[in-house]
Amino acid sequence: MRLDKLVRRVGCAALACLLAACQSPPPDPITRDSVDYLGTVIHMAVYDGDANEALDEAFARIADIDRRMATQNPDSEISVLSRDGEADVSPDTAALFALARDVSEASGGAFDITIGPLVALWGIGSDDPRVPSQAEIDEATSLVDERGLQFDPSGGVARLKTQSMAVDLGGIAKGYACDETVRILRAHGVRSALLDLGGNIYALGKRPDGRAWKVGLRTPIVGETDGIFATLAASDCTIVTSGGYERYFEQDGVRYHHILDPVTGYPSDSGLLSATIVGPRSATADALSTACFVLGRDKGLALAASMGYEAIFVADDRSVTITDGLRTNFALTDDRFTLVG
Ligand code: ADP
Ligand code: MG
Repeated sequence: MRLDKLVRRVGCAALACLLAACQSPPPDPITRDSVDYLGTVIHMAVYDGDANEALDEAFARIADIDRRMATQNPDSEISVLSRDGEADVSPDTAALFALARDVSEASGGAFDITIGPLVALWGIGSDDPRVPSQAEIDEATSLVDERGLQFDPSGGVARLKTQSMAVDLGGIAKGYACDETVRILRAHGVRSALLDLGGNIYALGKRPDGRAWKVGLRTPIVGETDGIFATLAASDCTIVTSGGYERYFEQDGVRYHHILDPVTGYPSDSGLLSATIVGPRSATADALSTACFVLGRDKGLALAASMGYEAIFVADDRSVTITDGLRTNFALTDDRFTLVG
């Protein structure tokens, strides 16, 4: 299936954005696309090393992560844990729980993988999303508490405090799959590649001509699925964006997106159109982008700094704030947006 068709089928335009942004894309990568894992579109372009073997191994690893961690898969460790309140989890899953806990604590609970009951209640991304009653929201919100997840960081039995709690790794698993892909590609001698796992981008090394990758940041406005508003020169780092413009439903003229505020139980409303995090590790950046989108600009800036990550925040009024580490790499390309800090 062609890439543009893949993108349309899954309703995700991160890929289109990334490709459009490589202003003169270097020639002849070995590419691989998929819509089969982690509920998202994956695109990889590898320019050197044992590209085919590396990609085979990377996709086998992603399939393995999907089997263990996807809520869409009823037999995954996460689904069993959420259904039975107890499950045997692999060291990978336990390590991701530990990372999620760190970000949860650092964000004062804005990122919380026990968001499961609220995700199920709203059904955003499912075939029949709906606005729940306040009583339903209150009940589901009372079940969200990361401290109610007990686990051994090296794997083994994990337990939820009550059986009605549920875990959802949708805000972090794609980042983990991205990190694992980078590790595998490097082990196969790859020093030049561009990866996109449903918006978790990784710029591995440099372009074959020795220049930094130039990655486009998608315009965070509903309906403008192909546009980019800025570019970022990047090398050996991940770029992860969370926003409310891509996965949402509408009821009575109101738009409800898929990132939920664990305090209110509603889609977050912190004054941001998007939160982008840049740094070394994609799982951490994934969790941080979700947390920052919930927290808003000022608290988000403090959180990113506390974890040593850079950030780009676009506010509802289209003002853009970037952190100091990105000053020389970042360029606005759409004059409807203004850089304010
Ligand atoms: P995307 O999956 O679109 O890249 P995110 O990385 O921000 O976006 O993850 C959003 C997903 O994370 C949701 O679909 C849901 O599964 C889960 N989620 C929603 N709100 C939260 C939250 N406050 N903390 C942790 N996970 C969340
Ligand atoms: Mg995320």
